[in-house]
Parts: sequence; C-alpha cells; structure tokens
Amino acid sequence: MLLSERDKKIIWHPFTQEKTASLPVAIKKAQGCYLYDEHNKAYLDLISSWWVNIHGHANPYIANAIYQQALNLEHVIFAGFTHEPAVKLCEAIQKLVPDELSRFFFSDNGSTSVEVALKIAYQYWWNQGQEKSIFLSFAGGYHGDTFGAMSVGATSSFHTPFNKLFFSVLTIPFADTWHGDNLIEEKEELALKTLQKHLEHNSKNIAALIIEPLVQGAGGMKMCRPKFIKDVVNLARHYGVLIIFDEVMTGFYRTGTRFALEQAQVVPDFLCISKGLTGGFLPLALTITSEKIYEIFLNDSFTHAFAHGHSYTANPLGCSAAIASLELLSQDVTLVNINNIINIQQQYVVALSEACDNKIIKIRTCGTILAFDININGVNIDQLKAIFLKKGLLIRPLGNTIYILPPYCITSDELLEAYKIITNSISDI
Ligand SMILES: *Cc1c(COP(=O)(O)O)cnc(C)c1O
Repeated sequence: MLLSERDKKIIWHPFTQEKTASLPVAIKKAQGCYLYDEHNKAYLDLISSWWVNIHGHANPYIANAIYQQALNLEHVIFAGFTHEPAVKLCEAIQKLVPDELSRFFFSDNGSTSVEVALKIAYQYWWNQGQEKSIFLSFAGGYHGDTFGAMSVGATSSFHTPFNKLFFSVLTIPFADTWHGDNLIEEKEELALKTLQKHLEHNSKNIAALIIEPLVQGAGGMKMCRPKFIKDVVNLARHYGVLIIFDEVMTGFYRTGTRFALEQAQVVPDFLCISKGLTGGFLPLALTITSEKIYEIFLNDSFTHAFAHGHSYTANPLGCSAAIASLELLSQDVTLVNINNIINIQQQYVVALSEACDNKIIKIRTCGTILAFDININGVNIDQLKAIFLKKGLLIRPLGNTIYILPPYCITSDELLEAYKIITNSISDI
C-alpha cells in the first residue's frame, strides 16, 4: 500500500476537510528547495513548508548541530535548570533586536509564543492591582490556534465555531495596500480613527494591542506600510497600552529586514518569534520582552511569578538548531541570496501584471514575499493548486490569494522558471 493510502486510513490532518481532501502527497525526502514524493516526483518548495524553512531542506550544517547536541544533552527540565544552547541562543538574538528587548521566555510554537505574550501582558497589570481584560487586534489577523491566540484572531474566519468562548477583543481595520493602490491614505486614516475611538472609550480596560507588523500572513498575505504600524503603536502607547508584535512569520528577513520592527521604527513591549527560528528543523519559540515588564513579576510571593511552562521549554536540540540557523543567516552569501529574491520579486511585479492582464489584482511585495489575488469569476482555486502541484510547484493559496515565500537558497533560475509556470497556468484559465 502506498504511504499516502496508509496515511488516509489513520491520520487526521491539520486545516483539512478530510471528506473532500485528495490523498496527501507523501514526501520521502527533501534537499535544498526540493521535496521528493513516494514516486520520486520533485516539488519546488515555494512556501518554505508552512513558512518555517529558510536555508533549504535537510541542511547539513543544522542537521549536524542537532546531532552533536543530541549526543551531549537532548533535554533537561527548564525550571531550576539551564543549559548552554538556551543561553547562547538568547545572547545571540539579543544582538539582533533592540536593546530594550532583553528578557527571553521560551515556548514551542507560534501560538504558544503569542499565548505567553498575552498572559504576561494581562498579569503585568494584575500584579499591579489592575484588571484589564480587553485586547486590541486587527481585522483578519491570525495569531495561532490556541484559545488566547484564537481570541485575538477572532476575525480571521478560521475560528468561527469557538466564538462564544473568546475573551473581549476590540478590532481595528488593517490598512492593507498593494502596487497602484491610491486609497491607502484614507484606509490608514479610518483605521487610526477606529483605534482612537476604542482607546478613548476603553483605555482603562485595555491590556495590550497585538499586531502582525507589515504582513498579515494567514489572513491572506495582506501588507501595510511601515508608517501605519508606527502610527498605531504611538497612538496606543499614548494611552498606556502594551504592544505585542507577532513576528512569528515576519521574523528572520522575511520582510527584507531582520525583523519587521526595524522598518516600523518602533520597539514593542513583546516580540513573538517562531517559524524561521530553527531554520525549519524543530518547533521552538521565543517571547521577548523588556526589563520593565520582567521586574513587575519580581516579588517575595510566588503569586506574582509567571506560572507558565511547557515540557519541552527551551529544548536543547531546538536551541542548537536555532543557533546553527542564525550562523547561516549571518553569512554574506545568505544576505546576497535574500536581496536577490527581493529584487527579482520586485521586477516580476511588472511582468506579472502584463502577462495576466486583469486576471490578477492587488499585486504586492514585501521583502521576500510576493502575493496577488486571482480575479476570475467562478475560478476554483483548489484546481489551480492541483495544477501547480502537477507541474512540480508547492504553492498553497490562501482563499483567492496566491503567494510565494521561498527558502532563501532558491536560485534566480528556479524563481524565474516558477514564475513562468505560474503565469502560464493563470493565463490558461
Ligand atoms: C503561524 C503563525 C502563528 C502560529 O504559529 P504556530 O507555530 O502554527 O502555532 C502565529 N502568528 C503568526 C503571525 C503566524 O504566521
């Protein structure tokens, strides 16, 4: 029996309507930007395997770092104990983020890194005798699938069945834009006005604001201007609201800079990172915050401590993979590759609009991400996805949005060839 058939009998997949889903593609091995299925068919990975992979698959440098670490220390309880990879990793990341972000809390994935930020933000006020139970978030934002993360992502449409179980969240429109958009000023103004209204009416009860800076990922690769983020943060801060940047997707050069916060030119109170952290090898996440927040948890009584943790908190293998990934990321060749992708994607915008005419709209780029929306009546996106797969491209549209978010080791030729296949497939519809 094929692996994909054995799978179908026993496994329940994430984000999948199992009734109508076709057999999963069974991947036997991977190398660089390519995945190989059980029939040895190759797929060019244009979405970095759910946005986690940055140096290509089965990277030997990271693989070896994990192996060496596993021979020495695979795991240790992280309450009351510590280890070199955890400390070394945080020291390394501290050099990459603004000085104010100097306290590191580990967890396992993007959702839990958000959960940690939300809980610390809430308890920060609670420890000071204030109960602030409202959070601010953006329409269409996505922050993960655990309950707190779902609450602040309630408008993302992924979490509808659970709506009644969510805590209070006030929503702000996300001022998204694209090439040739001439209404952006109005959209930003409206969003800021809505924020201002929420703040005026509720500021005493608002614990924090959470935002995906520059790009809303799962919400459809929606992009905003850096200045919008800056204005939002400054306005919310004026009312004493804590700021959480969910950079789970945007971190590690996805938007062109190490973190999106550099372009927004503001420093949040919390920075959540995960997806690219280990180069796509192991689940690991960090919630980074300031001394100001940390100090509010220092007290003779345990009740003020942050009583949160996971069995695999700061797993040494994950930390070693992350250190190795950072080392690769700091090499000149990686930065050259990243800039190359950025340049090619920007050039492709023109070719794309010419080739596909009005079949696609809202073309947008941010760093290494390129996205656009399909504008064809009655088009079946699943069918288009199947065509891409058949032609050897791993692309996973979000609604009507097609996007490319490649591993940084992709070559110009591979990218250009992929574009050609994509444009031809769309023109053929
Ligand atoms: C993917 C994602 C999450 C959730 O991360 P998981 O590792 O899937 O739990 C949270 N926030 C953003 C912005 C994401 O893209």
